[in-house]
Amino acid sequence: MKTYTIRDFEKQFPNEDTCLDFLKEARFPKGIYCHKCQKITTHYRIATRKVYSCEFCGSHVSPTAGTIFHKSDTPLRSWFHAIFLLASTKTGISAKQLQRELGVTYKTAWRIFKEVRNLMAEDINSLAGQVEVDETYIGGKRAGKRGRGALGKSVVMGMVERKGNAIAKVVPNVKARILLPMIEAKVARENKTVVFTDELPSYNQVERLGYAHEIVQHAAKQYVRGVAHVNTVESLWSTIKRGIDGVNHSVSPLHLQSYLDSYVFRYNHRKDEQPMFQSLLNRVASLAVQPS
Ligand SMILES: [Zn+2]
Repeated sequence: MKTYTIRDFEKQFPNEDTCLDFLKEARFPKGIYCHKCQKITTHYRIATRKVYSCEFCGSHVSPTAGTIFHKSDTPLRSWFHAIFLLASTKTGISAKQLQRELGVTYKTAWRIFKEVRNLMAEDINSLAGQVEVDETYIGGKRAGKRGRGALGKSVVMGMVERKGNAIAKVVPNVKARILLPMIEAKVARENKTVVFTDELPSYNQVERLGYAHEIVQHAAKQYVRGVAHVNTVESLWSTIKRGIDGVNHSVSPLHLQSYLDSYVFRYNHRKDEQPMFQSLLNRVASLAVQPS
């Protein structure tokens, strides 16, 4: 991935206008279609507002309409800065840190934080090849019982294609009727797909679902038996836990999925050619509700 530093950011986006122009280009790469003139026309920036105006009929188009920036009093550049920070962090960032960096109120920082995390929620499908499946427990204010069934913690199921994408979802429990349908929904049943799990009995029927199934016997201290391991998903867990415990201290179960989404997004885009910041900005544009 190309590195993109804060200096690059400051150079590319020195002010509000550069942010708005960028957004316009990202959303209307082929030019702005004027619904009144019924064709693509040149639009000129109206200096005092965040809108562009059709050269013929004067109709206004706002690049922020339908995006997370719409109707926000926060400068666009602060939003872009927040996206930059969330894209470039390794361990994650807290609303408190955002508040300090952006110089906004905590309430605003929290709102921006939440919106940008939502931006990072991607729907990944069809993991294939060698897929590691594992569950873990995250959160809870006090230390619960060790291992499975820890009190006050949320259960998270993870699926990671080796050298590929990851998925992490909050689940109600680790029963087979919860975990198996998740595997079926997300893991392709191609002839060479191998699912690696630990010895949790809920996974006993994985083979019957039509996958090759390799079981890692953690209880027998057999962490790596050739290719049979779940180290990839475990290393994702440790990144997430380092972030959530170390940076965010604790995360309410209500918001946990959205935090997971942000860690998984960074994981899934770790090998992108373009900087993650750019990928996220493009998502703002692609998720925008197009004006009708
Ligand atoms: Zn027009």
